[in-house]
Amino acid sequence: MSAVLQGLKPELIWKHFEAICGIPHPSKHEEKIAQYVKDFGKKHNLETNVDDFGNVVIKKPATKGLEHLTPVVLQGHLDMVPEKNNDTEHNFETDPLKIFVDGDWVRATGTTLGADNGIGVAAALAVAESTNLKHGPLEFLFTLDEETGMFGAVALKPGFLDAHILINLDSEEDGALYIGCAGGKNTYAKFKYSAENIPSGSQTMKIVVTGLRGGHSGLDIAANRGNAIKILNRVLWGLSKEFGVRLAHIEGGSKHNAIPREANAVITVEKNKAAGVKAYIENFNTTIKAEHATVEPGLLVKTEEAETADKVMDVITQMNLLNALYALPNGVVTMSPDIKDLVETSTNLAVITTDSLSVNVVTSQRSSVESEKEDVANMAYSLFSLSGAEVSHGDSYPGWKPNVHSPILKVMKEVYKSKYGNDPEIKAIHAGLECGIINERYPEMDMISFGPTIMGAHSPDEKVQISAVAKFWDLLIAVLENVPAKKAV
Ligand SMILES: [Zn+2]
Repeated sequence: MSAVLQGLKPELIWKHFEAICGIPHPSKHEEKIAQYVKDFGKKHNLETNVDDFGNVVIKKPATKGLEHLTPVVLQGHLDMVPEKNNDTEHNFETDPLKIFVDGDWVRATGTTLGADNGIGVAAALAVAESTNLKHGPLEFLFTLDEETGMFGAVALKPGFLDAHILINLDSEEDGALYIGCAGGKNTYAKFKYSAENIPSGSQTMKIVVTGLRGGHSGLDIAANRGNAIKILNRVLWGLSKEFGVRLAHIEGGSKHNAIPREANAVITVEKNKAAGVKAYIENFNTTIKAEHATVEPGLLVKTEEAETADKVMDVITQMNLLNALYALPNGVVTMSPDIKDLVETSTNLAVITTDSLSVNVVTSQRSSVESEKEDVANMAYSLFSLSGAEVSHGDSYPGWKPNVHSPILKVMKEVYKSKYGNDPEIKAIHAGLECGIINERYPEMDMISFGPTIMGAHSPDEKVQISAVAKFWDLLIAVLENVPAKKAV
């Protein structure tokens, strides 16, 4: 091994991290890295079990005299997001990452680094390998296929773990302890329409909404960004009332978990009203740009030339659709009463597409409170039902409700304060973490998540901070030593 990271401290973490970077491990291709972990368990004579899905658990007995401590599982995921720059030649299934040290950071040339979650996995292996730490009974859980849908965690069975405390090593901010995450559910609406001939004497026009920032529909939902579909719908609704325009086609957004950046619609309008429609859209552009001036300086609503449309949808369906999208709440629904600045519940209008029979709408609801997630998803369902659409829900995954009285949180806060002299930030994330799913399988598990600072995860700019890794390790081993004693049963 070339040992690019030689000399970095703590040595054991960096040794394992460099080895991990040398083993291709994009999501759905984790065989080789899972083998590395299994070989590690065997080599160190640690009990190593694999479940039907391929998740691996390694067990390490307590240090002598600490057998009475509550059993803890350290958890991380084995897969990484394979993203590279356009001009980078890299095969994620066969090539090792080209890592390098850049000041206080470790990065990879032209690709994601996989510090999400390779650094967490490396830390778990380092704890498993160390012979000089003090700890109670430990387990190390390595899950597969987190990044594409948390499938490893979903496949976990009750009974695979013995621990009562789970420390997830997959968050990315030094100084923060995470105690909650959001669950999610999608709600779909299908507006079937009758295609009608274009009224005679009309002309076709295209309306385009562009230049928005978009972003993650959970993490960025409170950032006041414009939703391209909502903005497009607002102008279409106005044009329908004012000028009786007819809708031929509408599309916008591309991912169920993103805020849509662009949307467009093809409409027809009586020729003698076309100038009025154009003026209306120009006016609307001025208004909407003013509303979003601070956050969305690039926003633009404009008309474009369009080929003559073949058909338009019937007026009743058109108005049901536009009314429903107008009435549909979008963005933050409630903020957490327990954690500052945490969005508790939200909904995002994500994607709209048109085919020859129907307009199809994808919306996504999130909440860290399971019952609120159901409630807000039902709200979307109910609204679309009122508008005559066919409505359905997609797969749902559970959230992890923050428990500000969590015993492991108390320990970590105390250890943190005694080591660094200030309080850690207690946070929750308005997006999915495996903790939500694991919590569903193990409802009695006390859980927390923390990790060193990683910037640009899921992009070729990903980097992990060397000094934060040292602090992460210090905190982790101190916490293991201070885990509360097992409750008498
Ligand atoms: Zn991750």
